[in-house]
Amino acid sequence: MTHITHLDHIAIATKNLTESLDFFEKKLGLICTHIEDLPERGIRVAMIPLGDTRIELIEAMREDSEISAFLQKRGPGIHHLAFATKNIHDDMKTLQEQEIVLINEKPTQGAHGAEVGFIHPKNSGGLLIELCQHKD
Ligand code: ZN
Repeated sequence: MTHITHLDHIAIATKNLTESLDFFEKKLGLICTHIEDLPERGIRVAMIPLGDTRIELIEAMREDSEISAFLQKRGPGIHHLAFATKNIHDDMKTLQEQEIVLINEKPTQGAHGAEVGFIHPKNSGGLLIELCQHKD
């Protein structure tokens, strides 16, 4: 079993973070609380809290970013759902033991210093799922 607890965020790939933020903030009246660059992954993320979960807007910072292929193939839109877990290392091991294909074998660094790992969409009928464990 995994240690998944709740839906952490819904991530949306965008071609223009400023324009997307404009929509969520000025039209919907939501508030972005954090913008962070993740240069190792080639992305900039903006977080918009929404009740117990949040919207995470992702923009590519370079052409070989984590979301560039997705944007080219499918265009802007929902990129992944993120499930919060209490023990990402154990979960990724458990999934591998069940022959679930992971995109990265070990957790990598996410926003706010969280540890994140991705489950390949072919396991779930097309949905990219992120596991994330926040720092306490
Ligand atoms: Zn995410």
